[in-house]
Amino acid sequence: MHELGIAKDLLDIVLLKAKENNLKKITKISLILGEASGIEEDFLRHSLLDHLLPGTIASGCQLEIIKEYVKAKCKKCSAEFEPSEMIFDCPSCQNKEIEILSGKDVYVASIEGE
Ligand SMILES: [Zn+2]
Ligand SMILES: [Zn+2]
Repeated sequence: MHELGIAKDLLDIVLLKAKENNLKKITKISLILGEASGIEEDFLRHSLLDHLLPGTIASGCQLEIIKEYVKAKCKKCSAEFEPSEMIFDCPSCQNKEIEILSGKDVYVASIEGE
């Protein structure tokens, strides 16, 4: 099993976007990968480039993966911070109840084609 379910979902979105823009060929896909998404960049790249893209209009395209840093907000004092080393304590009040604002998702940023 070398395919990631999320990679297939991303490809579906890419192909839908291509259809909406009347693209016959996709030359570049840019993805945003949150650092707290739990998805490994290499695995995502492998799933798409080696398994899912061949045979589609995105076959042989350039795949750009942009990392998104994690941003969190303290539920107690509302301080916003970037957790480091996966330590999710508020740096202002040391509260452990925090909300993740960004960096936990993976999504399609843009596609290019002709
Ligand atoms: Zn594989
Ligand atoms: Zn706090």
